[in-house]
Amino acid sequence: MPRVFNFSAGPAMLPEEVLKRAAGEMEDWRGAGMSVMEMSHRSKEFGSIAEKAESDLREIMAIPENYKVLFLQGGASSQFAMIPMNLLRGKKSADYINTGYWSKKAIAEAKRFCEVRIAASSEETNFTTIPPRESWDLDPEAAYVHYTPNETIGGVEFPYIPETGEVPLVADMSSTILSRPLDVSRFGLIYAGAQKNIGPAGLTIVIVRDDLIGSPVSGTPTMFDYATHAKAGSMYNTPPTYAWYMAGLVFEWIKERGGLEGMAERNRKKAERLYGFIDSSDFYHNPVNPDCRSWMNIPFTLKTPGLDGKFLELAAEAGLVNLKGHRSVGGMRASIYNAMPEEGVEALIGFMEEFEKKHV
Ligand SMILES: *Cc1c(COP(=O)(O)O)cnc(C)c1O
Repeated sequence: MPRVFNFSAGPAMLPEEVLKRAAGEMEDWRGAGMSVMEMSHRSKEFGSIAEKAESDLREIMAIPENYKVLFLQGGASSQFAMIPMNLLRGKKSADYINTGYWSKKAIAEAKRFCEVRIAASSEETNFTTIPPRESWDLDPEAAYVHYTPNETIGGVEFPYIPETGEVPLVADMSSTILSRPLDVSRFGLIYAGAQKNIGPAGLTIVIVRDDLIGSPVSGTPTMFDYATHAKAGSMYNTPPTYAWYMAGLVFEWIKERGGLEGMAERNRKKAERLYGFIDSSDFYHNPVNPDCRSWMNIPFTLKTPGLDGKFLELAAEAGLVNLKGHRSVGGMRASIYNAMPEEGVEALIGFMEEFEKKHV
């Protein structure tokens, strides 16, 4: 079976070059006589893998020195709790921006720890817009401001980084990290589950400014305290070693392709092609306001919803898989992260054209 174009929102496609490299090193990692999966996380070999991955990520994202990079487990969903536990620092409330499904999840979890103020929301447009920064009602006493730069399910993405003054800005970048250059110094904390744009599931990356670490709420379990992992180089306990290694291979792959500028150029092109096609057709529709459409997740509906099943079936036969939209919104969704080649997007557009011809 040839490899398909996998449009899954996550776990998502990995670059073929990375998979081949991992396959080549599977049984014997560079003369170690064993797989990376079988290595002690305390070994010299794994130490070099871990260090190289972190230094490559720091280089790609130009992460300033006063930020720690943590390689954790528990997914972005665990961060929904770890963030208030670590960042409240004696304060009573935090500001959240509600732009859809993942914002809501973060908000619900934070409510277990503090008062949550919704400083802005796009719920009245059914999450097809981004509230302009001027409309936000921020509290200067808030512990932090949390937002979701890319809503993976709604396919809506912030066209700007919000200014929040002295209040640390916290971003759930699970589905947009590494898609383009980013000024990390604008943020107090950035977090992302790996399975969309970094590597395999099981690894969660947290990039956090030094001064925000070290005053967790009382009763915080050791494993949920950022200080534990910062002090131990993310090796307080056994880290997700193989996912860490794979992420390192992805970082090298990005470096070889022009870094985040190279990624941005490819991603912009892919997104423009697909939105351009959808907008030029009367048969397909994307509901998101053009100024805040996601480069990574592109939801669309068919004019005749009864044809969804047929569309998905024929697409899969053509090697275009996982196009079903999230169960909460229906329709279709094409996730086109860094690893989706331009040919994958062209193949999808070709298929959509043919399908439209046959069904109007
Ligand atoms: C996928 C996703 C999550 C959930 O990530 P897990 O690692 O499964 O916990 C959270 N936020 C966003 C924006 C996502 O895309």
